[in-house]
Amino acid sequence: MTKGLIWFRSDLRIDDNPALLEAANSCDELIGIYTFSQKQWNLHHESNVKQDFLIQNLITLEKQLMKLHIPLIVLQTDTFEVLPKDLQKFIDIHQIKSCYWNNEFGVNENKRDDAVEILLSANNIQISRHHDQVVYEPGFLRTGQDKPFSVFTPFKRRWIENFSMSFLDLDRVDKPLKKTNLTSNLSALKLDKSHQVNMDAWPAGEANALARLQEFLNHKINNYSESRNTPILDGTSRISAYLALGIISPRRCILEALKLNNFEFASGSLGICKWVDEIVWREFYRNIMHSFPKVSRNQPFQDYTRAIPWRYSSSEVEAFKTGNTGFPIIDAAIKQMLAEGWMHNRLRMIVAMFFTKNMLHDWRVGEQFFMEHLIDGDFASNNGGWQWSASTGTDAAPYFRIFNPITQSQNFDPTGEFIKKFIPELSDTPVKNIHQPTQDLFNELNYPKPILDLKESRQRAILAFKETRDAQAL
Ligand SMILES: Cc1cc2nc3c(=O)[nH]c(=O)nc-3n(C[C@H](O)[C@H](O)[C@H](O)COP(=O)(O)OP(=O)(O)OC[C@H]3O[C@@H](n4cnc5c(N)ncnc54)[C@H](O)[C@@H]3O)c2cc1C
Repeated sequence: MTKGLIWFRSDLRIDDNPALLEAANSCDELIGIYTFSQKQWNLHHESNVKQDFLIQNLITLEKQLMKLHIPLIVLQTDTFEVLPKDLQKFIDIHQIKSCYWNNEFGVNENKRDDAVEILLSANNIQISRHHDQVVYEPGFLRTGQDKPFSVFTPFKRRWIENFSMSFLDLDRVDKPLKKTNLTSNLSALKLDKSHQVNMDAWPAGEANALARLQEFLNHKINNYSESRNTPILDGTSRISAYLALGIISPRRCILEALKLNNFEFASGSLGICKWVDEIVWREFYRNIMHSFPKVSRNQPFQDYTRAIPWRYSSSEVEAFKTGNTGFPIIDAAIKQMLAEGWMHNRLRMIVAMFFTKNMLHDWRVGEQFFMEHLIDGDFASNNGGWQWSASTGTDAAPYFRIFNPITQSQNFDPTGEFIKKFIPELSDTPVKNIHQPTQDLFNELNYPKPILDLKESRQRAILAFKETRDAQAL
């Protein structure tokens, strides 16, 4: 009789879980494990709200696994460094013969997994590694010159060329295994409630993730290409928090969307094509993280931008982080993130560009701030998004193309409804003033004055980038 261990990480689901499927097909008895390190969580600046969501999802997963006779045990460890030994100890106690997992692709996670594999293999434990986070294992798709892709459009072209419908043959474990005498221990995990987010908006579990996807596909996806840039419309899927913890798989998302579009990527419903494109952006940034480890070491993708003379003003940073910059669209966006644990994509771009260009502050400060507050915090996409906005990244916005937050506000929140939703002080402000309150309004309302001059700060940023680039070209 074989007893195996299925190690859950960012794959907290039964559906389309390759490691779980292989484990269930190869073992008579299975124990599920989730290793949690508060220190490591803090080191990666993961938010309290994401931690709360994680725990709720573990509780739901535990119930699903019980039906398959797989107990879910949480093993609390100090850091990734001590994890291999802790895991080996658990394996020894429970006389486990094999261990299955889906790879994570961060630098630290890779190092941890390699160390675990070395230790366990040396003790005759059979290791079986799989991948589930993206359609092609990161690094698999390469350019004609056999290099990793660093530009999205050719990456996407190759992604589609290599696509086979067989990738979407999704499977799941449905037969219970042999019962074990272990019981789950999730009560050891404490729910962290030190955040403002109403968790009713983020119901846990894969059934809820799938229901959210179906709701989006049934009612919103066909209008996605028009509505995706208008924050007040709520025209996007809000599936990112579920993808970040693997409550739903990207393949499931792609399959369900393509079913509605005759399995076409480039014709048919514009909304569906555009939405699948966004899922491919997620895959692109995972490839960047895998192929260019420097981005995980706090370094910019564009080497010359290491020398950008970033400013640091604690009062400006404080105004930014609390939504008090005096620019309504920026402040409303930050307040959305603090209240919902999520920010609309258009706003993430506007806010990140304002921080790195107008404020000329280091993208790493903003990147960390987002991780500390997002329920969908995901290193690869967050780093990619911040570096894109800061013009330090791969395929990034050119440094001289700087969004004007007022024009962006007029274009994407024309009636000011989104601003009013998050900044009640401005609820009676007429539309003509809502994007840029006048001096009188600042005095009259309890709303801060702008922390900077847009024109001057724009020129300052362009000059800083130009001088840095020119100096290095010498
Ligand atoms: C500065 C900045 C920081 C970001 N930080 C994160 C982050 O921490 N976690 C995260 O998941 N996304 C991040 N994004 C990408 C994007 O903003 C979110 O994925 C999106 O807003 C999530 O909402 P949704 O699920 O409704 O997206 P939808 O529009 O419904 O898109 C579907 C899915 O496609 C993926 N996707 C969409 N846009 C992007 C994109 N630009 N880059 C990569 N993947 C994308 C996401 O997985 C998303 O759930 C960031 C973008 C920027 C500009």
